[in-house]
Amino acid sequence: MSSLEDERFMREAMRVATERSADPSVSPIGCVIVKDGQIIATERNRVEDDHDPTAHAEITAIRAAGAKLQDPELRGAVLYSTLQPCGMCTMASIWSKVGRVVFGAGREDVHRMYFEDRHIDTMQFIEDAYRHDLTIEGGVLRAECAALYYGPHDHPPLEEQGNL
Ligand SMILES: [Zn+2]
Repeated sequence: MSSLEDERFMREAMRVATERSADPSVSPIGCVIVKDGQIIATERNRVEDDHDPTAHAEITAIRAAGAKLQDPELRGAVLYSTLQPCGMCTMASIWSKVGRVVFGAGREDVHRMYFEDRHIDTMQFIEDAYRHDLTIEGGVLRAECAALYYGPHDHPPLEEQGNL
């Protein structure tokens, strides 16, 4: 897949990320899942809307894609996320059998409030997975995606830091 295609799908993920609000305090994260060049799921972070701490964009998109395909395995699909997936979403991506994960901003580009722990890292999870048919890459529209979130050196109010 060309990088122009990656950028097109990442822009769609950015669009859905900010559908409710573009405020960095609401974690505007978007996810698009593509199979055979077609978008099969477009979801955003719904934690606050659904009162569900597991309703991250990637989780809701994986669920929507499975429902659409009527198949719990998304083999051959590509998952795009505006932000490097957290530990939960990385594991869900591995279990979903997507073939490729593409993210925009990386962990180091944003404030630590968007991640659950200090060290566990998407890249290591995927490296350690039993699957050999899964690849991951970051940095697609990195700066534009990073601009959606608090930066690494910002000081968001403690009550906005959902990981504490
Ligand atoms: Zn997540």
